[in-house]
Amino acid sequence: MNHDDLNHWSKRAADWATAYHKGLRDRPVRAALVPGAIAAQLPATAPEAPEPMEAIFADFEAIVPEGMTHWQHPRFFAYFPANASPASMLAEQLANAMACQGMLWQTSPAATEIEQVMIGWMREALGLPEGFTGTIHDSATTATLSAILTMREQATAFQGNIKGLNGMAPLRIYASAQTHSSVDKAVRVAGIGQDNLVKIPTDASFSMRPEALRAAIEADQAAGLLPAGVVLCAGGTSIGAFDRIAECIAVAKAYGLPVHVDAAWAGSAMICPECRHMWQGVEGADSIVFNPHKWLGVQFDCAIQFLRDPGPQVRTLGLRPSYLETAGREEIVNFNEWTVPLGRRFRALKLWFTLRAYGLEALRGRMRNHVQWAQDSMEELTKIPQVRITTQPILSLYTFALEDDAATENLLNRINDDGRIYLTQTRHEGRYVIRVQIGQFDCTRADVMMIPQIVAELIGQ
Ligand SMILES: *Cc1c(COP(=O)(O)O)cnc(C)c1O
Repeated sequence: MNHDDLNHWSKRAADWATAYHKGLRDRPVRAALVPGAIAAQLPATAPEAPEPMEAIFADFEAIVPEGMTHWQHPRFFAYFPANASPASMLAEQLANAMACQGMLWQTSPAATEIEQVMIGWMREALGLPEGFTGTIHDSATTATLSAILTMREQATAFQGNIKGLNGMAPLRIYASAQTHSSVDKAVRVAGIGQDNLVKIPTDASFSMRPEALRAAIEADQAAGLLPAGVVLCAGGTSIGAFDRIAECIAVAKAYGLPVHVDAAWAGSAMICPECRHMWQGVEGADSIVFNPHKWLGVQFDCAIQFLRDPGPQVRTLGLRPSYLETAGREEIVNFNEWTVPLGRRFRALKLWFTLRAYGLEALRGRMRNHVQWAQDSMEELTKIPQVRITTQPILSLYTFALEDDAATENLLNRINDDGRIYLTQTRHEGRYVIRVQIGQFDCTRADVMMIPQIVAELIGQ
């Protein structure tokens, strides 16, 4: 296959993509397969001789789509969305064509500079004050790891990187039980240790209790432990919980602790001014992560980390071996020094295309619809006598259950075997509950209202 063949097959792929997207509603959302079914269709060893692209493409069509859970299906209501707007897909094709490494400014000046401008656009679109800069990571997990590594280094006067943590007082990180498991992973990977992630009790709305945070920090100080930072939740994955950001930041600051806010999902909604009260006080944070690759429509992977001062993170993650020096260019930014991996994709391009092709007002309109349709579908569900709403909608996420866990789990299995919609579960206050999140880029109100319709149908059977 050469570049002329690529031109031909790219057009075939574009036709395939259009037909695939138009036909999504006719497919079950979740792959209906037994494990191993796809692997069994592939030969055990790689070919020695070239195969014709005709055969490769035919196998792709025959094997792959059937083996996929369709994240772009308009009735995908599971997890959180991984939206890929058409404009973002186009930008990814162009980025793929250039296949750059954006580790240094000079290895891809446009990638670095468009990334800087996009950070500025998004900062303003989310209503964050001037002064925040930032970078684009692959995932929120990496952004949170970067923030926690920086907390570790700040708490150890930047000696953790050099000497290791042996012989130091245990570092302590504080978060509520509603925060994402990426926080647990980060404290493990950072060498801080799971036991030193202190889960602060929450109040009736599942928000971290500021006075409990204060008490935990003081108890640790009295015990000779080393408080290192606070991670706050703005839209938790389980039920969408928000910590009381302003109050918790005030406590953290009283003890000189840096704060990282995880708004991976809900951050997108902050382009709507009426949502911003939910993370009121966020401008006091040192680091904020949000994923344009969830609700906003910029396809995976694209996670923005805003930083009030990049200095401590660059000091933590930046290394300049001689082969990465950019002589005489002290004023430029080399984004690899802000992140864990050295190599970086050109992720800003799809943000640029998406923001321009739709405009903020259309993106806001989508989110407002999703929030409204979450409410509408929830209200319909309440008309089914067996259904209990277990958590009210937070933005576009709510949960429901039947009378006991076994009945709820059974219903969820039947919903997903049916295939017209896809929902997933969580555990809330010890109960097995079904999560409903509305946020798919192409969903309509009719798609969403199939949720109560299908639940009623399946319970009635
Ligand atoms: C999805 C999510 C994450 C993890 O995001 P990745 O980009 O997949 O690492 C972290 N926190 C919250 C609140 C999330 O919703």
